[in-house]
Amino acid sequence: MKITAFKNTFFDTLEGEYPKEEIGSFFNILLQEFTGLTRLDLALNPQQELPAEAEEKLRAALQRLQQHEPLQYITGTTEFFGLNFQVNSNVLIPRPETEELVQWMLHDLDASEGIKILDIGTGSGCIAISLAKHLPKAEITAIDISEKALETAKLNAGLNEVAVNFIHKDILAAEGLPSKFDVVVSNPPYVRELEKKEMQRNVLEHEPETALYVKDHDPLIFYRKITELAADNLEPGGKLYFEINQYLGKETEALLAEKNFATSLKKDIFGVDRMLRGIKS
Ligand code: GLN
Repeated sequence: MKITAFKNTFFDTLEGEYPKEEIGSFFNILLQEFTGLTRLDLALNPQQELPAEAEEKLRAALQRLQQHEPLQYITGTTEFFGLNFQVNSNVLIPRPETEELVQWMLHDLDASEGIKILDIGTGSGCIAISLAKHLPKAEITAIDISEKALETAKLNAGLNEVAVNFIHKDILAAEGLPSKFDVVVSNPPYVRELEKKEMQRNVLEHEPETALYVKDHDPLIFYRKITELAADNLEPGGKLYFEINQYLGKETEALLAEKNFATSLKKDIFGVDRMLRGIKS
């Protein structure tokens, strides 16, 4: 089969499921992934045959896209903060908002100091690994409740050639932190059940529930617990960073203020409250 013929099938199959531009971008990414050919290669030589092996892979990918599985899970990779990460359905796909949180931290923190940082609910490891890459003197620990997520995070630390100390732990059941830290960061689950109606199929049906959702009646459960642990653990001047639910900025900020943190809320590129910093006084 010619590549262009397959391309037509690809577009016909996904028509109505996604905007046309998105289908085009899926096709180009997958074609390159499975054949090495770029969009330009195809434009210059439109009569090319699609190798049988690549066709099989493309058809399998097409079926997964019909189920609204995220493209990043299909290719198994994504980019975060300029680094490559392996992803699969055991980990949340890193979001651009979270890059902004890392950016904020790097702006605040001194790369020449050997500070100790703890990332709670590390998932793919994107926060811990990006920090490790840019703060080579820092000692970084990352915990997660999911052993499968930790396997992926460890793989990502190896691929990005950084050392992170990974620990399997349920933070809600923790009585203390594994040691003293200068900085604690977390992007915990914060999406309320009531917010599910705003969400897309790719997230709702394919991304890990444990990484995303909290109960409507207690949406700040992770923030309360982590703030308590950090309040006991951090020295004065120690910093706590959170990615937060855009609708609960004030409430989350109040939790930190109650524990004597000096707080700053920060908006993301979409203009909503998305990040929170607390400095222990
Ligand atoms: N920002 C993510 C989303 O909108 C949620 C991340 C989280 O729950 N920590 O899907």
